[in-house]
Amino acid sequence: MNEKASVLLIYTGGTIGMIENPETGALESFNFDHLIENVPELKKLGHTISTIQFDPPIDSSDMNPALWNEVVRIVEENYDYFDGFVILHGTDTMAYTASALSFMLENLAKPVIFTGSQLPVGVLRTDGKENLITAIEIAAAKDENGDPVVPEVSILFESLLMRGNRTKKVNAENFNAFASPNYPPLAQVGIHIKYDRHIIHQPDKSKDLCTHYLMDSNVVVFKIFPGMTPQMVNAILNIPGLKAVILETFGAGNAMTKQWFTNALKSAVDRGIVIINISQCLSGSVHMGLYETGNQLMLAGVVSGFDMTVEAALTKVMLILGHDHPVEKVKELMCTPLAGEMITEPIKE
Ligand code: ASP
Repeated sequence: MNEKASVLLIYTGGTIGMIENPETGALESFNFDHLIENVPELKKLGHTISTIQFDPPIDSSDMNPALWNEVVRIVEENYDYFDGFVILHGTDTMAYTASALSFMLENLAKPVIFTGSQLPVGVLRTDGKENLITAIEIAAAKDENGDPVVPEVSILFESLLMRGNRTKKVNAENFNAFASPNYPPLAQVGIHIKYDRHIIHQPDKSKDLCTHYLMDSNVVVFKIFPGMTPQMVNAILNIPGLKAVILETFGAGNAMTKQWFTNALKSAVDRGIVIINISQCLSGSVHMGLYETGNQLMLAGVVSGFDMTVEAALTKVMLILGHDHPVEKVKELMCTPLAGEMITEPIKE
């Protein structure tokens, strides 16, 4: 069943919303009030499409928690009036914004589909039109009971629909720019859109949407590397006001075993800083008990981020810290799946 649905299109910025000025050839931001004129194919979908655009549009490198709040506010204010939402966003930080929204929109029961493009919508070989049209189709899709097919925050890019907090931008050149290495795609887009209904989140209909706006940015992402010096590590772990560290480790969550390094981490943990272990690998999970090099992190009080992306771990800890929980509660929540962002079962040995 897919009767006329209403979709709110929110253009935040990014390449997708650009069009070539026919006289100068320069790329300019496109006015979404004239969307149907510029993308007449949308009429054939038969849905009611309304648009809101950021003024000025934001290159996604300039996204920040205040702007995530703005997107959440737009979704919240319009939640009851639309069947689904499409968020057009620059690709560079789309995985961060999608991850953030997956936590900020608790009990979401409607589709919030992010998309963008590698080439502007006004360029001949654009991937933007196809992404835009498919994202609207997915945001409008209903099942046989009239319920939305994809009631979660996701990213549609090229041929895949992926859970937002599982994605990463992995290619700055190809049309297939995103991957979801630790969770299968929610849908494959070909001649038909083939949804994998068993792995799409099903909301608890008895609960209302609950939005969260408070994010605490006293967090750092610290990618370890061979050759780090004590000065560097201590400089990072002693940043004034620091509350959490996303520690990007090797392999299954390993790091150097030098005593000074373990001591520096332990001292930070003792000062109430939450350190979350995330692997530098694209796929797989942190498993700190596997090698001595991971075990010593666990002994220092570092908590496992399991198979979370850095983007998910970062935005999740910002949101949890925004709630002013005691440190032990922050650690517990970081190890608890809140929006399908992690699988915590230990790897079978
Ligand atoms: N720099 C642009 C952005 O992220 C690239 C894009 O839209 O894909 O906003």
